[in-house]
Amino acid sequence: MESTLTARDRVGVQDFVLLENYTSEAAFIENLRRRFGEKLIYTYIGSVLVSVNPYKDLEIYSKAHMERYRGVSFYEISPHIYAVSDNTYRAMRTERRDQCILISGESGAGKTEASKKILQYYATTCPVTDHMSTIRDRLLQSNPVLEAFGNAKTLRNDNSSRFGKYMDVQFDFRGAPIGGHILNYLLEKSRVVHQNHGERNFHIFYQLLEGGEQDQLSKLGLERNAQKYHYLVKGCCPRVSSINDKSDWKTVRKALTVIGFHEEEVEDLLNIIASVLHLGNTQFGEGEDGETQITTEPQLTYLSKLLGVDGPALREALTHKKLTAKGEEVSPLSFEQAVAARDALAKAVYGRAFTWLVAKINQSLAFKVSHTSIMIGSSSVIGLLDIYGFEVFQHNSFEQFCINYCNEKLQQLFIKLTLKSEQEEYEAEGITWEPVKYFDNKIICDLVEEKHKGFISILDEECLRPGEPSDISFLEKLEDTLGGHAHFVTHKLANGKTRKAVGREEFRLIHYAGEVNYTVNGELANQSVNSTAVICQSDNQILSQCFNREEVTTQKRPETAATQFKNSLAKLIEILMSKEPSYVRCIKPNDAKQSGRFDEALVRHQVKYLGLMENLRVRRAGFAYRRRYEAFLQRYKSLCPGTWPNWQGRLADGVATLVQHLGYKPEEYKLGKTKIFIRFPKTLFTTEDALEAR
Ligand code: ADP
Ligand code: MG
Repeated sequence: MESTLTARDRVGVQDFVLLENYTSEAAFIENLRRRFGEKLIYTYIGSVLVSVNPYKDLEIYSKAHMERYRGVSFYEISPHIYAVSDNTYRAMRTERRDQCILISGESGAGKTEASKKILQYYATTCPVTDHMSTIRDRLLQSNPVLEAFGNAKTLRNDNSSRFGKYMDVQFDFRGAPIGGHILNYLLEKSRVVHQNHGERNFHIFYQLLEGGEQDQLSKLGLERNAQKYHYLVKGCCPRVSSINDKSDWKTVRKALTVIGFHEEEVEDLLNIIASVLHLGNTQFGEGEDGETQITTEPQLTYLSKLLGVDGPALREALTHKKLTAKGEEVSPLSFEQAVAARDALAKAVYGRAFTWLVAKINQSLAFKVSHTSIMIGSSSVIGLLDIYGFEVFQHNSFEQFCINYCNEKLQQLFIKLTLKSEQEEYEAEGITWEPVKYFDNKIICDLVEEKHKGFISILDEECLRPGEPSDISFLEKLEDTLGGHAHFVTHKLANGKTRKAVGREEFRLIHYAGEVNYTVNGELANQSVNSTAVICQSDNQILSQCFNREEVTTQKRPETAATQFKNSLAKLIEILMSKEPSYVRCIKPNDAKQSGRFDEALVRHQVKYLGLMENLRVRRAGFAYRRRYEAFLQRYKSLCPGTWPNWQGRLADGVATLVQHLGYKPEEYKLGKTKIFIRFPKTLFTTEDALEAR
C-alpha cells in the first residue's frame, strides 16, 4: 500500500475516500494528476475504479500482472482493472449472483480498451476445457469483427465505437466461460453516408478495399481506391496513421472463420458492403420529361446484382415514392428526395446487416446444453457494458439526444444502486444509516420518457399523425407541454433559465451533466422506420432475413426510432438491475490523444459529468473506510502485543483489543457484524504510518 507520508505526497492516495479534503474538486483533480504523472492511471472511490487513459502501452497487463491480482483484496495491492475483474469474478463464484461491470466515460476515454482487458483477464485466468476454448476464442474474436463494422476514426478517437454494447459472459459452476450474448444499441447510421471533416466511415469499407483480394474486388465491381467512393471521402481522410487497414482486414477475415461464418455468408456480407459503396456513387439528374432519373447506369447494374433485387424495381425505388402502403400508385421524387431515398437505403441496409451480424455472433456464442452435462441453472453471468458517454457537439441531432438520454438513465441507475448498496451495507452490519442529499436526475428522465407528456410521447404523436410531420409544429407542441419544465428551454421560452442562445429550430435540455442544444431540423421525417420495401425481394440471404415482407404489407404504422430506443434502454436497465454492479469510470486526459499530458480543465469537466464528486460524497457520508475483521487484524495485529502473533478469540474482540491499544476514540470508528468502519482517513493513516515505522 502506498502509505507513507512522502509516498502519499508523491503519488497521492490510491482511494479517494482517503482524501483529507474530500469535498474539494481541486484536491480530487490534484490527486488524479499526481498519480497520472507517476503512470498510476487507476484510483478507487471505494469500489469504483477511476481510470485515466495513458495513451501509451504500459507494462501492467502481462500474464504475471494478471496472476498478481488473483484472489487478492482491493486495498492490498495497487488499483487495477484486473482487481475489478477478479473481485467481480469471485463475487459471482462465492455469492452465486450475476454481476455486471458498467464502464462509462466520454469518447476516447478508454472504455472499449477496459472492456477488452477484462475479457482478456477472464480468457487467461479462468479454467477451460477443450471445447470451451472454442467459446473463449469466439468471445475474443467477436471484438475485431464488431469493431470493423461498428467502429470508425473520429476526431476524438481513431477507433471510436459508434454503437453501444452490452455483453454477457456466461460461466459454468467451475467458473469456466461457456457462452456469451451481445446486445447492441443505436449504431450511428448517419456515418454510412456522411462523415465530418477529419473523420472516416466504418473501418470495414477501407479494410475491404485495402486488404481484399483483387478478384474479390473485381467481382464486387470495386476499385482498390477509397478516393473513388463518395461515401468514404466526405471527411477527407481515407488513411489514418495509427490504423493498418490491410492487416486489420486479415484479422477480421480470420475472426469471421473462428466465429463460424460460412463462406456464403461472408460473400453475402461483402456484397452488402460493396452495395453501400455503389449506392454512394449513384447519381441523379433530370430527364427530358423533367423527372429525376439515375445517371449512373453501371452502378445500378452492380447494385441490382449485389443486393439481389430486380433492376427496374430498384430504379423505381430510388426515383419514385409509393403513395399507398400497398404501393400500386407512385409519384416521382424530386432530386433532393431521390438523394435522400438513396442515403436512407444505404443506412438501412448497413444498419440491418450490423444487427444481423450481432445475431449471428450470438448464435455462435450461445451456450449449448449438448456440449456438457452441466445444468444451465448452475451457471452465472458477468455482463460488460461499454456504452457511449455524454456527448455535446457544435451541432447535436437525434443521435446525441439518444446518447445523452441513455446517460441520464445510467446515472439514475448508478445513484439508485450506490445509495442502495451503501444503505444495505450499513443495515447488514447493524450500523445507523445517515441519509445523504444528492441531485436526483429522475426529473430529467421523466421529461424524456413520461407517458403522454414526455418528450418521446410528443414525438410519437407528431410522427403518427396523418400527413407529413412538421418540425415546427413539433416544436410548438413541445413548448405547450413542457414549457413550464425547469430543464426544457426553447427560443421562445429562454426567459432566464439559461444563458446561452437557443436557435429557432432548436430546443435545449438541461442535463445533469450540462446544457445541450438539439436541432429538430428534418429529424421527424427520419423517425418512422421506413422499411425500404424493395429490399424485401432480395435473394441475398442476409438481406432477406433483415427485411421482412410483413413490415411492408402491414397497415400499422411502425414504432418510431425514439420509442424503439426507449424500450431497449428500459430492458437494459432491467437487466442491469438484476445484477450486482461494479463501475469503471474512464477519463480522457487531453484532446490530442497524447501521452503524458493532463489537461485540468478537460478532466474537471469529466469529473463533473461522471458524477465522481457526488459519488465520493455518498461514499464518505458515513464512514470513509471499512474492512473485514480478519483482513484488518491480519494487517495490523503486529501493532498490539495482545493480538500478536495470533488472535485466538472472536474476531470482533480481537479488533476491539487492537483499536483500543492504538488509541482510537469512540467517535472515530464503529464495529459492525463483520467489519470495522472508520470514519476519518486520518485514523487509518496514523495506523498505516505506525506499521511503516516498525
Ligand atoms: P472509448 O471506447 O472510451 O471511446 P477506447 O477504449 O477506444 O476509448 O480508447 C481510445 C484509445 O486510447 C485506444 O485506441 C488506445 O490507443 C488508447 N487507450 C485506451 N486505454 C488504454 C490503456 N489502458 N492503455 C493504453 N492505451 C489506452
Ligand atoms: Mg469505444
